[in-house]
Amino acid sequence: MIEPRKELEVLSDYVPGKSIDEIKEKYNLEHVVKLASNENPLGPSPLAKKAFLKAVDNLHLYPRGDAPSLVKELANFYKVSENQIIVGNGSDEIIDMVGKAYIRNGDNCIGITPTFSVYKFTTLSNGGEFIGVGETAEKTDLESVLAKVNHKTRAVFICSPNNPTGSFYTEVELVSFLEKLPHSVLVFLDEAYGEFAESPLYPSMFKYIHKFPNLLINRTFSKIYGLAGLRIGYGISSPEVIKNMWKIKPPFDVNLVAQYAAVEALKDVDHIKNTKELNKKGIEMLKPFFENLGFKVLPTQGNFICVKIGNKAKELVEFLEARGMIIRGLSSFGLPEYVRITLGKKEENLFLMELVHKWVNP
Ligand code: PMP
Repeated sequence: MIEPRKELEVLSDYVPGKSIDEIKEKYNLEHVVKLASNENPLGPSPLAKKAFLKAVDNLHLYPRGDAPSLVKELANFYKVSENQIIVGNGSDEIIDMVGKAYIRNGDNCIGITPTFSVYKFTTLSNGGEFIGVGETAEKTDLESVLAKVNHKTRAVFICSPNNPTGSFYTEVELVSFLEKLPHSVLVFLDEAYGEFAESPLYPSMFKYIHKFPNLLINRTFSKIYGLAGLRIGYGISSPEVIKNMWKIKPPFDVNLVAQYAAVEALKDVDHIKNTKELNKKGIEMLKPFFENLGFKVLPTQGNFICVKIGNKAKELVEFLEARGMIIRGLSSFGLPEYVRITLGKKEENLFLMELVHKWVNP
């Protein structure tokens, strides 16, 4: 038997949202709607789709490892230098690269829990200790995160808007935190859902990258741009941090089609506008619906809502699945009484409402 690395002993498998095929097969259904993985209900950006089809003739070629066209577009878009950008195979890989570049055996990393599980996975797989602060559905203040920082802390993961609760941090909160934190600690500010935020208090933090070289802002093409299947995300930080990440980046991780498609998706203002409008309408439909039934809905800045169902949350998830609607139960996030629902198209939201109504009033 070949012994695996010791770090693997503490790792558990990632729990994804259930797939449409899985549920179709399990319940012998023809029509299944998935509102469980925060994907874009409008599909991919049409401009990205065109670029995808055009790229097909070049599939025999290796992609450019340094993704120059995309890096240039991103630099223009965010008004930063090209040496402040790293691209990855989904932002999952940006997190992975942070782990490989920075987390050493015996270090600790802090996450504001409940939150996206890959931060913990990356920390543990690199031999670090993961410290979860909060453990509550309510927003945790950054002062309590500071209280946990010690000489072994290498990174703090801040997800804003947070998956799965939808809460966010303001500019004042983030800047005050960055000012007090030792600059030897990396701050991974995960803005995978940043484009959806409507609150005037949701900050643009890119201007602080010069002031805080330990700040890395993560974004993705998987959510608002609708390219989750292509796997492409990016990080923006100081040239020092980005240089270290390029050193450990696998050379051809971001495929050729993804690079072409992402360049076009970034320009697709109509698709972004339509997606944001749909998202807003989804909140306006689903939030009052659940509240009128007596369920608490957490305030959200993402493309999903987090609803407190109580001790029957699992029963609701199963009831819906059996009738062709997939939502996300949050036991694996440490919130067994809550569910997370991606905001869908009008007809998808109506289908969900009809089924929830039936569950509440059998
Ligand atoms: N960050 C957050 C907060 C997420 O919710 C997700 C995906 N659900 C990711 C990162 C990873 O997304 P991707 O790898 O598709 O870019």
